[in-house]
Amino acid sequence: MTVTRFAPSPTGYIHVGNLRTALMNFLIARKSGGTFILRLDDTDQERSKQEYIDGILQDLEWLGITWDRIERQSARLGRYEEAAEDLRAKGRFYEVFETPLELDLKRKKQLNMGKPPVYDRSGLHLSDAEKDALRAEKPGYWRFLLDQERIEWVDGILGPISIDAASVSDPVMIKADGQVLYTFASSVDDSDMGITHVVRGADHVTNTATQIQIIQALGGKAPSFAHHSLLTGPQGEALSKRLGTLSLRDLRAQGIEPMALLSLMARLGSSQPVELAGSIEELIEGFDISTFGAAPTKFDADDLKPLTRAYVQALPFAAVAGRLAGIGVPEAQAERFWEVVKGNIGVLGDLDGWWALVRDGAEPMVAPEDEAFVAEALAMLPPRPWGPESWSEWTAAVKAATGRKGRGLFMPLRRALTGMDHGPEMAELMPLLQKVPGQG
Ligand code: GLU
Repeated sequence: MTVTRFAPSPTGYIHVGNLRTALMNFLIARKSGGTFILRLDDTDQERSKQEYIDGILQDLEWLGITWDRIERQSARLGRYEEAAEDLRAKGRFYEVFETPLELDLKRKKQLNMGKPPVYDRSGLHLSDAEKDALRAEKPGYWRFLLDQERIEWVDGILGPISIDAASVSDPVMIKADGQVLYTFASSVDDSDMGITHVVRGADHVTNTATQIQIIQALGGKAPSFAHHSLLTGPQGEALSKRLGTLSLRDLRAQGIEPMALLSLMARLGSSQPVELAGSIEELIEGFDISTFGAAPTKFDADDLKPLTRAYVQALPFAAVAGRLAGIGVPEAQAERFWEVVKGNIGVLGDLDGWWALVRDGAEPMVAPEDEAFVAEALAMLPPRPWGPESWSEWTAAVKAATGRKGRGLFMPLRRALTGMDHGPEMAELMPLLQKVPGQG
């Protein structure tokens, strides 16, 4: 059975980059009827915050990305200790003592000599007495002893990958203060939880190489891996600095609709066209990881606007009735109001402005050269109630009286009544307007 996971570190809110990872793993699990685990990589106690955990859960719920169960790494520390013991016994964990400064010096020396800056494994050759002496000064920390051979896998997006383990430093697994690091905890979890597929960003390719060896050393079976390309801004610029402003909660506050966001992220960077999906089921059905390319993927938040617009404009009245009631549209008028204005909204929040216009009227927009004309026309407004014919009857009468026609006739009247030069058909909007200039 397919088992995937989304493994955010709760040290911040989810942004579009993480969403891509979450969505792909979710879609793979759902498409195959498998299990999707939400795993919180929260072994960094200082930086992990409950506030972010709550935020991640809310954001995923908002999107409709449902998980089958939650796992927290902080609840599995005992298991990591056990796995560490196992790897110590197998000779795959070794204790080291270098400070960051010492490591930095070693790297500089290696680079000066034209050698790759790979950890030299000095710790591996320390005698027990040397270790005791070092421990008396400072606590040691633990590295995983890589097998120095090529690590190969067929990546679901990048194709065949081959990494020479000799070109990678033995990864640090447990810090001197006992904190279990992500690479180790993640390998233990992926192995214990029977994860079959891992999709994550291309920045994890080297981690994958080492994690494959760690999982194998633990006696587990490495999952299939796929690494999606990193997102860049519209001009190809790095997005990392801007990701803060591309958090899902910011997009939600701007009125971006979940289906718009999901539709874009499920296709962006693939050979399939981006189009608004009707449902999550449709996205699940159409998802195919093999259609994604390895090249950096351009992300433009503006692309979410037309998708959101298309989504909201296609909503049935029933879907917006609650929201309309919430902004004070009386039930009796709500459906008509929706039908008239929906073609002129980009996000649902735009309904507020249209309702304010209908309820309160607008500050008329009248060009100086139209003042006399508008005053004359307003004096000719037909008596209420207004119906679908009112606009054409009124404008016909104004035309006959003033000789104006076409745009010169209609536009000043639209501006006078709505304060804008665009909007719904005036014949439809006019009967809804509760206040117009000259009528109090
Ligand atoms: N916590 C890691 C991250 O957010 C998870 C990466 C992975 O999927 O293994 O980068």
